Amino acid sequence: MIFRPYSPSSLVQYQHCPAFFKFKRTIPQTSPPTPAENVGKAFHRFQSQMAWERLSGRSDMNKIFIDASAGLTADEQKRLKSLVYHHNFQYLLPAFDSSNRDIGIERKLAIDEEMNTCDFESKTAYFRGIPDFFWVINSEKKAVLVDFKTGAENPMYFFQIQCYSILLFAFYPALQEIETILDFAGASYLAQDLVTRVKQIEFFEKIRGMIGEIEHRMSLDDTKTGKHCDWCELKKNCREWKKKHGFKFMGSI
Ligand code: SF4
Repeated sequence: MIFRPYSPSSLVQYQHCPAFFKFKRTIPQTSPPTPAENVGKAFHRFQSQMAWERLSGRSDMNKIFIDASAGLTADEQKRLKSLVYHHNFQYLLPAFDSSNRDIGIERKLAIDEEMNTCDFESKTAYFRGIPDFFWVINSEKKAVLVDFKTGAENPMYFFQIQCYSILLFAFYPALQEIETILDFAGASYLAQDLVTRVKQIEFFEKIRGMIGEIEHRMSLDDTKTGKHCDWCELKKNCREWKKKHGFKFMGSI
């Protein structure tokens, strides 16, 4: 199947517009990242480097900031500085407290169609993702899973972190529940939830249903106009978009 493996964001992309999903997977992408994407990536670099340094007993914030902000424009650096300055790291500290924990920092996780773990790049990989940060409290059969967000709240993020939970349950068979945390760094706000293994198995069935539908419909050129059209690179050639906006039709997708 040429669209495998799937990721949470690819499933969301399909929901937004099947034609766009297909385009993203069949045509090499050339558009440069936006300033918001640059800052988001730099913030993630900062966070993961800080976690690694803490694990090794060091924590030189200035150096980490300089490394993370390499290549940013002056405005992007300012935005990154503000995010880092206002971000509250305190709730992450228990992750570094005890040796009775496994910590994952941007760890690549993948499962096959039967929910067995597999290599991220494996041909059998069916669903995969890279959660920002998690720690497993072995004695309590519990884990905390964190995803950092630098933009505004979006329903997609809640779906995404639920998907990461599926992966974590597969990798840690004794785990019974996961506290999920969406850390909206720009708004200094944490959206927390508790997910159980039983619920996640039901959720995986839904994911399988979505993937089944995608693989069944991908031979059709479905388009779906919506808010996402504003940033879509296909606008110039999209029949639906032109119909809606009254442009002369030049081609087809
Ligand atoms: S312009 Fe809109 S409808 Fe057309 S392909 Fe892009 S996202 Fe889909």
